[in-house]
Amino acid sequence: MSHHQPLSPALGRREFLREAALGAAIGAGVGGVIESGLNSAFAAEQGKSAVDSQAALPIVDTHQHLWDLSKLNLPWTKGNEVLGKSFVMSDYLAATKGLNIARTVYMEVDVDPKDQVKEAEYVIDLCQRKDNPMVAAVISGRPASDGFAAYIAKFKGSPYIKGVRQVLHGASDPAGYCLDKQFVRSVQLLGEMGMSFDLCMRSGELLDGDKLVAQCPGTRFVVDHCGNGDVQETDAGKIARWKDGMKALAQRDNVVCKISGIVVTARKDWKAADLAPNMRFSMETFGPDRRMFAGDWPVCTLRASFAQWVGALKEIVREMGMSLADQKKLFHDNAVRFYALKDK
Ligand SMILES: [Zn+2]
Repeated sequence: MSHHQPLSPALGRREFLREAALGAAIGAGVGGVIESGLNSAFAAEQGKSAVDSQAALPIVDTHQHLWDLSKLNLPWTKGNEVLGKSFVMSDYLAATKGLNIARTVYMEVDVDPKDQVKEAEYVIDLCQRKDNPMVAAVISGRPASDGFAAYIAKFKGSPYIKGVRQVLHGASDPAGYCLDKQFVRSVQLLGEMGMSFDLCMRSGELLDGDKLVAQCPGTRFVVDHCGNGDVQETDAGKIARWKDGMKALAQRDNVVCKISGIVVTARKDWKAADLAPNMRFSMETFGPDRRMFAGDWPVCTLRASFAQWVGALKEIVREMGMSLADQKKLFHDNAVRFYALKDK
């Protein structure tokens, strides 16, 4: 596993100047300026190592969880040794220090459904405040419920609320649940409102997700966590079902894939090479313009610190020979475009 430090003391000033140049280029907020600014910044990289260049990449974390157990009830965290405590913004900032996280998108945390509006209000407040990088959010919702249309209408036109997720891989979630008539209608409604839906489902059921997508051509979808393909899976049939599902979803223009999550399926003493086949397949299947980095912190801490996860992904993309321009899309640009993220 790689543990590259983004800053070495000897390079401090040079690094600082380069990051300032990148920041200024991005802050300008005009497409052409961003591109030319970054290109010249990257051109200045010639002669430096690929690792140094990667350290300068600004990151959008498209999957930032937070939970304050004094405010919200998360039944699934109870009794969990690692995750059964609060994780708040200051913890996130400490966990990502030095990693060049430019902006984040909150991801819902499967709160008790009674707390869904409270959860949304909690993250809208964070998006409005200037003391943190969160700029947008994907909130909880139960598309199959009668109250869904009234619930989501509360957030219509919000500059912060970009989409909805309901995790579909819980022990009690039946296969095919996302094909329920009301569920499909609600996901179509999200598209009418300009919102996306996150597909977080069992790797063997991605083709159900594809059937949902087929019925919702006006809705944009995000496949969470490389389709949840287990990196330790050895059953050829299961691997084939995951790959078939991913390929089917990648055929559809309105679907993008989050490159994340699967480190939690690795053995305790994992290495980047253990993750590489899954990650590589996911990135190549969705291509350079429809894959986005996601942290999935603090869930990733079941196996990896945030820095270890980012380090492993950077190592994998270096070994793939991915161009810096495509790396910038993966870590930053694709997310900005998909969610139409504003500067903070
Ligand atoms: Zn997650």
